[in-house]
Amino acid sequence: MQKRRVVLTFPYKLIDQPITSYLVKNYDVIVNILRARINPKEEGRLMIEVSGKEENLDKGIEYLKELGVKIQSLAQDIRWIEDRCIQCTACSSLCPTGAIEVDREKMTIAFNKEKCIACGLCIPACSYKAIEILF
Ligand code: SF4
Ligand code: SF4
Repeated sequence: MQKRRVVLTFPYKLIDQPITSYLVKNYDVIVNILRARINPKEEGRLMIEVSGKEENLDKGIEYLKELGVKIQSLAQDIRWIEDRCIQCTACSSLCPTGAIEVDREKMTIAFNKEKCIACGLCIPACSYKAIEILF
């Protein structure tokens, strides 16, 4: 069983289609909707966690792409805005993956995108809005 977190962007013509139900039924995966934003007559965005066999996940994602759904890995959607960061390090202790690394000598942080799973735990910790989730 594998889990992937992805952001799906739907063109408006697909917004009212039961795409996630179709995924569950035809590819034997579990879809957990983490966030949704849908504007009628515009595009819709869904942040989902999808679990299942690797082969089924690949096929399900291919099906979505063929429909015209844009797919982004969730980890690509977290942004650290260095200019706003005052290096207080408050966010680092909350990060479960070590994606926010602290240089103890300089007391500065660095964001390692490769380690980020986009859980969003660090976002409310930052009073300076230096970490954003692009959604
Ligand atoms: S979103 Fe989660 S994993 Fe990514 S940097 Fe923030 S706390 Fe760490
Ligand atoms: S909480 Fe915000 S200001 Fe403080 S180190 Fe983290 S990103 Fe920078």
